[in-house]
Amino acid sequence: MSETRDIGIEVENPEEVCDDDNCPFHGTLPVRGRAFEGEVISDKNDKTVTVQWSYSHKLPKYERYERRNTKVTAHNPECIDAKMGDTVKLAECRPLSKTKSFVVVEKVLSD
Ligand SMILES: [Zn+2]
Repeated sequence: MSETRDIGIEVENPEEVCDDDNCPFHGTLPVRGRAFEGEVISDKNDKTVTVQWSYSHKLPKYERYERRNTKVTAHNPECIDAKMGDTVKLAECRPLSKTKSFVVVEKVLSD
């Protein structure tokens, strides 16, 4: 049985343990770089979610901010199993497929 690893990002470790090789906690997937928080907008694919978040983009010409959305696909390890509508924390990792280079590392509880 694998143990839960410290992934180097401040997150709550998942309560479940999985045997997913691409899980940063229980597999061999190293994560790096930045972490993002976003909302799961699709969970249709197995172990993959689409996550969207928005950020402010400054428009110097008008001296105001514009909301922009970023949308990425991310690996959804079995021990986390994020569902549509969940707020999640993502971390960058090596490319897992043509479009996936993020992994869900925590489900953020909304109040
Ligand atoms: Zn896991």
